[in-house]
Amino acid sequence: MVDKDKTIRQYLENVRQLKRLPFITDDEMRLLFSEEIAGMMEELSHYDLETRFCGDCQKRCCLVAKCELYDTRFQMCPIYELRPVVCRMHYCHLFQAEKGAMVEEISDVFFACLMAAEAAGIPHARLFDSPPIARCAPGFIVEAEKVLQRMKNGEITTEEASGLILTQARVYRS
Ligand code: SF4
Ligand code: SF4
Repeated sequence: MVDKDKTIRQYLENVRQLKRLPFITDDEMRLLFSEEIAGMMEELSHYDLETRFCGDCQKRCCLVAKCELYDTRFQMCPIYELRPVVCRMHYCHLFQAEKGAMVEEISDVFFACLMAAEAAGIPHARLFDSPPIARCAPGFIVEAEKVLQRMKNGEITTEEASGLILTQARVYRS
């Protein structure tokens, strides 16, 4: 069981340090949400690797979330190492039977953190509301869409497109 109050305190102490949301790294996730949450997310990630739920899926959740980077030609998220918090914490109904309680607890704590930040007047809270990514990082999406268009036109491969989009996300954060 996660210590919710402690996690909220840690979140409120550190959220202002994150300058380039919605993109976030593994280290920043640990800074924001405590080792307990990180451990649970690691467990979910291992379970996913075992079951291959996400690996064998057409990433329906990315489609439902209207993510601009969704394209079935990509093997995985082009900005995987920097994917937003919502992408990291979302696990669909396939995880329900074995890991439902854990998924629910993580999601609960996340929303409690967001509400506490809103109540404290911390504007960063709104930058977690992504995907879609354009509402938090419009400039990045303008450039990423140009790359996606070149991929669709056959001017560059999916691997090249994925690499370029990741570079754009890194530049956006710098
Ligand atoms: S969370 Fe569910 S819908 Fe999303 S990629 Fe994984 S298996 Fe697919
Ligand atoms: S940023 Fe999130 S929603 Fe978009 S493709 Fe990556 S994992 Fe999916």
